[in-house]
Formats: sequence, C-alpha cells, structure tokens
Amino acid sequence: MTDTIKTVSFSGSGASKWKFSGDKSGSFVTKSMAKAIDDKLLSRESTPSATIKNNLVPLKVGIFVWRTLTKRIVVKEELDRRGIDLDTLLCPICNDVVESVDHAIYSCKFAQGIWVGILKWWNLPPSPSITLEELIKYSRSLVPVSCKKKVWQAVVWVTCYLIWKNRNLKVFKNDAWATSRIVTEIQVKSFEWIKNRSRKSFASWHQWLISPSSSNIIDVNFDPG
Ligand SMILES: [Zn+2]
Repeated sequence: MTDTIKTVSFSGSGASKWKFSGDKSGSFVTKSMAKAIDDKLLSRESTPSATIKNNLVPLKVGIFVWRTLTKRIVVKEELDRRGIDLDTLLCPICNDVVESVDHAIYSCKFAQGIWVGILKWWNLPPSPSITLEELIKYSRSLVPVSCKKKVWQAVVWVTCYLIWKNRNLKVFKNDAWATSRIVTEIQVKSFEWIKNRSRKSFASWHQWLISPSSSNIIDVNFDPG
C-alpha cells in the first residue's frame, strides 16, 4: 500500500486533479497504479451494495458488469475525465482510438474477436449496430424465445468479465491468451458457474459446446428476472 501511495499523488481540493508523481510523462499506467486508482477513486464513487445480479454467476461478475455500465473501470477516458494527467488516451492494445469503457470491453479489435466467437458459439448473427449497453441490458432479445434468457445473460456477463481480465494481462504482462483460447475460457467458466448454481440438471459439457441455446438441454428452473 505504501508503494501505491508514493506512486500516485493527490492534489487540489477533493482530488479533482491527480498526477502520477512516479513517472515524468504521466502516461505510464502500471498495474499497481491502476489498482490504487481503482481502490481510491472508482470504489469511492460506488456504494457497497451497488450491483446488478444474475444468480447464475458469482457476485464479483455482477459487480464488474455494473461498474462497466456506470463507467467505473480503469480505462484512459475515465481517468482523463477524473482529472488524471495522461499523455495519451489511446487504447493500449490497438493504439488506434480513445480507450473508453465501450471500446475496451466491446469494440476494440481484441474484444471484437472474442464477441464474434461467442455469438458464433450461440449460433447468433453478428450485430454490428448493437452497443455494449444494449448487449448487456437487452441481450435477451438476441436469443431464441425457447432459450432460457438468463443463461445467455450470464454468458454475456462472463464474457465482459473475462475480456477485461485478459485485457489487463495483455496490457500489464503482455500475456493474454489467443482469442480462441479466451473463448474456450469463457465456455469453461460459464459452464462451471452456471452448472454449480443450477437447481436442476444442466447441459453436459458436450451439449454446452455444441448447442448452448437449445432449450431441451437447459433444463433449469430459475427465478424470473
Ligand atoms: Zn483498442
């Protein structure tokens, strides 16, 4: 904790202007800096109970998705908006456009490759016009009526969560997996989490991979909502 306090300095009333004292350019956001900002700035803006829930996935996934919807994740546009002085606002992965929350989780080519894989797995057509918010909030309308919508929502949320995790691995450790392996990670994690939270029998791993939206394999009785 001492290290992170040394690294990030706070100035101005109410920390309206922040600057990284550990780096002259101010553009170098390390993992510890990102964590300090996350702990000190973004979490301060939220209340402990603020989240959205889907009981098929762990609470931490819902909290992350809520923070995504309310622009509380450590992307450059949000740091800039909160008065943190950065040399560049460009996405650290594609270096092409400003790194907004939507860009990092959805429209960056890194994220898009993963979403294409997920939509293909669910046998859904790519939707170029849809926004991340629409995908998260209204994604129920994308899937066939016969499918349990809550399962699809859980998959969308797990995808957001794991795109962000892999974005951080790539930015801070240059260690992200290939797109196909991240899609597999999403398939594995969502299967594990949903199966463990199902009251009734759930699809087999093979069925989950081949036809996740098929109603006859998702034999679970969840609360509506
Ligand atoms: Zn990008």
